Amino acid sequence: MEFEEARCSLSELPRASEYILATPQGRPIDLHNLAARVIVPSLNKCAVCHVAEADHAKANHKFERDPSLPTWKGFYALRRGIATAVATVGNAMAAKSVLRHLNLATTTAHYIKSVPAEAVSAVDKVSELLQNTDGSGRPNQAKRQR
Ligand SMILES: [Zn+2]
Repeated sequence: MEFEEARCSLSELPRASEYILATPQGRPIDLHNLAARVIVPSLNKCAVCHVAEADHAKANHKFERDPSLPTWKGFYALRRGIATAVATVGNAMAAKSVLRHLNLATTTAHYIKSVPAEAVSAVDKVSELLQNTDGSGRPNQAKRQR
């Protein structure tokens, strides 16, 4: 399942569930499964042809992971990255709200980090990856070379 498919199916879920990320049956989704089946494959693209590793068997060259794409470090790292990005473009209170923390001190002490230029560049690349620029419903489709 590609990222866009997952996003579409999640957006079509009934709002009766108390969970933000819920299955169609209203139960919480398995985050490890989401990472393994959607997030990690979306970040493991070939540097040469931009095809996902799982779909790369038919290529006429060896798979070489695109080093410009970020490496998945888990949901805690994702939350830290989001908090840091929101604090950079907004402020710590905005980051606290996005993470749904009750206490600003938790957000500033454990989630917001100082950002080197390389990290800013990586966040920009992830944002670019997740934008659907050609209407195909699949992320990063516009950059794929055939
Ligand atoms: Zn390739």
